Amino acid sequence: MIMEGMSASNSLTESSSENQSIQVRPRVEGSEPIVNREGRALLQFKSPRVKQPPVHLADLSLAERQDKLKELGLPGYRAKQLSTHYFQHFTTNPEDMSDLPKERRGELVEALMPTLLTKVKQLTTDNGDTIKFLWRLFDGSLVESVLMRYPGRITLCVSSQCGCGMNCPFCATGQAGLTRNMSTAEILDQIVQANRVIAAGELGGLRRDGGHDAERVTNIVFMGMGEPLANYKRVMNAVHRMAAESPEGLGMSARNITLSTVGLVPAMKKLADEGIPITFALSLHAPDDELRDEMIPVNSRWKVDEALDAAYNYYVVTGRRVSIEYALIKNMNDHAWRAELLAKKLNQRGRGWVHVNPIPLNPTPGSVWTASEKDVAAVFIDTLLAAGIPTTLRDTRGQEIDGACGQLAAAD
Ligand code: SAH
Repeated sequence: MIMEGMSASNSLTESSSENQSIQVRPRVEGSEPIVNREGRALLQFKSPRVKQPPVHLADLSLAERQDKLKELGLPGYRAKQLSTHYFQHFTTNPEDMSDLPKERRGELVEALMPTLLTKVKQLTTDNGDTIKFLWRLFDGSLVESVLMRYPGRITLCVSSQCGCGMNCPFCATGQAGLTRNMSTAEILDQIVQANRVIAAGELGGLRRDGGHDAERVTNIVFMGMGEPLANYKRVMNAVHRMAAESPEGLGMSARNITLSTVGLVPAMKKLADEGIPITFALSLHAPDDELRDEMIPVNSRWKVDEALDAAYNYYVVTGRRVSIEYALIKNMNDHAWRAELLAKKLNQRGRGWVHVNPIPLNPTPGSVWTASEKDVAAVFIDTLLAAGIPTTLRDTRGQEIDGACGQLAAAD
C-alpha cells in the first residue's frame, strides 16, 4: 500500500556512493518461484474457469436492473429505489427499505443483493486513520481493501482479482498465483462496505483544525490485490459505475480513480480510448530491461520502452498526467544511474506528462530485500528532480496492520 507525500533530505553520504557499485538481483527466498516449462516466471493472463459469484444489482446497469424487476413482476421504478438503498444509503437490510412493499423486500434483496463480501478481519491503526479489511468471498477466496483518511478526502485501496497472475517476486499477492477475476459487484461492494464503516463513525483521523472532512470514500486506487487490466471488462464496468450518478452508481469523480498496472500494453491503449478521465499509474520499478525482466515478469512481453510509450500515449490521448510507481529496493533498483536513465527516458518523450512516485519497499515475508536507505532514496529523488521530473516520495501507511500489499491475506 502506498500513500502521501513525504519530503526528502538531500545529503549525498558515504553509503549512497558505496551503493552505486553493488547490484542485488531479484530472487525469491523461502518459497520456490512459480515457473513455466521453460523455467521462466509463469504469467497467468486468463482467469481459471471456476464458479462465478451470484449476480448483484451492482453488476447491472440501471436499465438491466429495471428489466430484472419487471421479470419479478414489479414496476421498473423499484430498481431506482433499490439502487438508492445500496449506492446512497449503503444498506442491504430489508428493514431499512420502507419505500418498498414490505412483503417483497426480502425477496428483492435476495434476488438483487446477495452477500458478496463477508468480513473476516477489520484492523485499525493506533491513530485510527487507516483500516484494513480482509474479506471472504462466496467461494472462500480472501481479498483485502485498505481505507485511509487524509485531510479533506478518504481513499480506498481496492482489489480487482483473487490473487494475481503477474508473479512479481517482491509482491506478496504475486506469490500465490491467480484464483479468479473478481466480479464488478465484488469490486464495488468493497466501496459500499467501506462507506458503511465510515458512516458508523469507525474511521478516525478527523481534522482538528476545523477544516473539511470527507464523509465517504472520495478516492479509489486499484492497488490492492490483482492486476486490474487483466480483468479489463469487469474493472471498467466497476469504474463506470463508480463514476455514474446515483442511483446508477456511486457518483464519484473519475479523476479520483487511479488504475495501476504492471504494463499490459494492449490494454493500456484500449484504456486511453475509453473516454473516461481516470488517473493512470504504471508500476515501472526499473528503467532498464535487464533488471525489469526479473522484477516484473510481464516485461518479457512488453519492454520498458513499450510500456513507457503506452503511458505517454495515455497522456496524449486523455491529457491526464500519468504516474510512474517505483518501489525503492536497497541496492537493487535505487542507484543514481538508474534515476538518471529513468529521467532520460521520460524526458525523451516530452515534458510535463509524467510524475514519479517512489515508495520505499514494504518487505514481504520471506523476501531477501529491504527498503532503500533514506539517504539513497533522497539521492534518487533529487536526481529526478534535478532533471525536471516532478517526484514525490510516498509513505507506506498501515504497516503495523500489515496494510501493505497482500500481506494480511497471505498471512491467513
Ligand atoms: N497489479 C497492479 C496493482 C497492484 S499493486 C500493479 O502492479 O500496478 C500496487 C502497487 O504496489 C504496484 O506499484 C506494486 O508494484 C506495488 N507493490 C507491490 N508489492 C510491493 C511492496 N512489497 N512494497 C512496495 N510496493 C509494492
